Amino acid sequence: MEEFIVTVDGPAGSGKSTIAKIVAAKYGLTYLDTGAMYRMIALYALENGVNLEDEKSVEAMLENTKLDIVGNKFFLNGKDVSEEIRTPEVSGIVSPVAAIKAVRVKLVELQREISKGKKTILDGRDIGTVVFPNAQVKIFLVASPEERARRRLNEYKEKGIEADFESVITSIKERDRIDSTRKESPLMKADDAVEIDSSVMTIDEVVQAISECIDKKVN
Ligand code: C5P
Repeated sequence: MEEFIVTVDGPAGSGKSTIAKIVAAKYGLTYLDTGAMYRMIALYALENGVNLEDEKSVEAMLENTKLDIVGNKFFLNGKDVSEEIRTPEVSGIVSPVAAIKAVRVKLVELQREISKGKKTILDGRDIGTVVFPNAQVKIFLVASPEERARRRLNEYKEKGIEADFESVITSIKERDRIDSTRKESPLMKADDAVEIDSSVMTIDEVVQAISECIDKKVN
C-alpha cells in the first residue's frame, strides 16, 4: 500500500482531533493524535517531578518512557493513561515539555515510524511543516480563542472535570503563545497548507472542506 499522509495542524482546541477522527473513518485512514504523545511525556514529568531544565534528567525521562498506542487508547509504560493525559494539570505543563528539542526528536521519529507506508491522518502543530513536509494533503485548522475555550470547557464538563471559562481561555492562549514562539518546530501554517477557520462552521462543513482537498488528490 502506498503511503498517503493528511496533516491537520492548528492551535489548541481548534477541533483537530474531532475532525481528524471523522475523516479517518470516512477514508479508512489510520489516525494518529500526536498531541497525546506529548501529553504522555508531560504526564510522566508531572508524576515524577522531572527537572525540565536539566538535560540529563530529560534524557533519563525519555529513556524511561515507553509509549504505545492501541486504537484510541494511550499506554505509558504499559499503563492506560488515556484519561489522565486530558486533565487541566497536564494541559498546563505540556507546552514547556513539547518545547524541548530532545523530546521532539524522539516523538517525531516515532510518528514517522508509525505512519511508514500507511495511509494516515495526523494532527498536531508541526506535522505539515516538519514531520511530513511532503504530505499529500495539509490542513491548518483555526478558530477564535473564545470558541476554542467554549469547546474545551464543554469537553471538561462532559467528563466531570471542574473548570471555568476564564481559566480555560487563559490556559489556551498561554499554550498558543508558547507553541508558536518556541525555537523548535513552532506552530505555524505550512506554505502549502489549506487554512480552514472552524469558528462559524459545523463539523460537517469542516469535514466536507477537507474531503474536497483529499478527493482532489486521490481522483
Ligand atoms: O493537540 P493537543 O492540544 O493535545 O497538544 C498538546 C500539546 O502538545 C500542544 O499544546 C503542544 O505543546 C504539543 N504538541 C506539539 N507538537 C505536536 C502536537 C502537540 O508540540 N505535533
